[in-house]
Amino acid sequence: MPYDLHTHSTASDGTTTPAQVVRAAAEAGLSGVALTDHDTGVGLGEAAAAAREVGIDLVPGVEISTSVRGRSVHLLGYGDITATTALAGVLAGTVESRHGRLRQIVERLGAVVPGLTVADVVARVPDGVTPGRPHIADALVAIGAVPHRDAAFAELLAEDGPYYVSYSAPGLLEAVRMVTAAGGAAVVAHPGSRSAADVLDDGLVAELAAAGLVGLEVDHRDHDAPTRLRLRALAGRLGLLSTGSSDFHGTGKQNRLGENTTPDDVVAGLLARTGAGRRL
Ligand code: AMP
Ligand code: ZN
Ligand code: FE
Ligand code: FE
Repeated sequence: MPYDLHTHSTASDGTTTPAQVVRAAAEAGLSGVALTDHDTGVGLGEAAAAAREVGIDLVPGVEISTSVRGRSVHLLGYGDITATTALAGVLAGTVESRHGRLRQIVERLGAVVPGLTVADVVARVPDGVTPGRPHIADALVAIGAVPHRDAAFAELLAEDGPYYVSYSAPGLLEAVRMVTAAGGAAVVAHPGSRSAADVLDDGLVAELAAAGLVGLEVDHRDHDAPTRLRLRALAGRLGLLSTGSSDFHGTGKQNRLGENTTPDDVVAGLLARTGAGRRL
């Protein structure tokens, strides 16, 4: 049975707890799931305990925010790596920058949504949780400004919109090197999604592969069929694995757990290419 290698919980911008994500993965018939919250491994202990209870594999992971020429690219890091010295410091820096940026976006939005306050949004981000635009979206839904998260993202929170503020994050190449040095496996998340596709040319992917990159996330709902073909071929040429996932966010997005998956042998290959396999 396959694995779903990219999911989010309430440790970042998902709506279900780490244990609920794992239980739902077992109910969906998956033999394993990776919890990959944005810039934090804080949910992994709870997820691992739930996985032991229901008898499926938990692949520890994190979705690292990185930047390439001012564009945001997400990097999945697999393995028990978030507490390693170099990575922990970088992730903490990103989370801190995300907190400041959350306030800045809310302040900008104040001009058009007077009912929205910083306190409303901050109350949705308990200590240790990585803040993101979905938390602002949920506050907008709560005050009746928009009907659901998607509507908030369509205009008020859009990356190319007037209220968007970016945050600081490590460079992609640096992040690949850090994950690899920590004994983890680095996989570029949804490389065909808009922001990433703008900057990820084949030359850069080759450079990442030389720095230790293990795979590309090919099967993802942001990718149409031609994009998947192109990415799978690129992965093949560079000796990279092709993974698949749902990028599940609970009820915050339409993505269904297990809608795209990664076969067992690819998961085994991914873990074998790193020290991570021994700890699973
Ligand atoms: P941020 O990391 O704060 O820039 O916010 C981006 C996050 O919001 C990503 O994890 C996306 O999965 C999520 N997101 C992006 N678009 C949408 C959408 N239309 N509806 C719900 N969540 C979204
Ligand atoms: Zn997310
Ligand atoms: Fe992502
Ligand atoms: Fe994600």
